[in-house]
Amino acid sequence: MGTDRTTEFEGPCLCGEGTFRIDDCEVDHAWPTATPQWYEGHIHCRNCAAKYELVKRGKRFVLVKRSELQEIDSKRTQAYDAGVHLMARPEVLATLNTFAALLTNQPSMAATHRLLVAEELEYSSVGTFRKGWSGGADWIRRHIKPDNLLRIYQIVNAPRDDLETWLADVERLNAAAAVTATPVGEPVYEIFP
Ligand SMILES: [Zn+2]
Repeated sequence: MGTDRTTEFEGPCLCGEGTFRIDDCEVDHAWPTATPQWYEGHIHCRNCAAKYELVKRGKRFVLVKRSELQEIDSKRTQAYDAGVHLMARPEVLATLNTFAALLTNQPSMAATHRLLVAEELEYSSVGTFRKGWSGGADWIRRHIKPDNLLRIYQIVNAPRDDLETWLADVERLNAAAAVTATPVGEPVYEIFP
């Protein structure tokens, strides 16, 4: 099984030495699939392909600078790494260990479930929770991200000043990474409805 491609549009590239092409793509079989049809943008020009990517934004295909895409990528990596680094801080691990013990030492699994639901950290039914449970540390590894650290700190009454500073750093990096590359010039092509 593969893909049927039809040229939807082809026009001169920015420097004039090649072309931009939009393909209308379809799976070449009739079985149900998540994405039976999509569009692809191609740059057939060595100059332009070195500088730009042809990307779909809603119904439009626009050019964006490769350098800007790489910059955004590196910001995302930085933000992700900061989150990983935060979760691995000895102070954070110590607080999570305290919380793991609190979860494990509840009188029953139903009580652990109630505690987590009350704190809006767990949304599954008690039955599902019971099946997936294999200790507090395991639950934390699967559910806790920088976003809910503050709540954990509150539950175990750990001092939060440092955490708030670290979270603000991660948040700042996330905000810096939550951008899209600016289109260069006019859209190359607009897909008709
Ligand atoms: Zn070109």
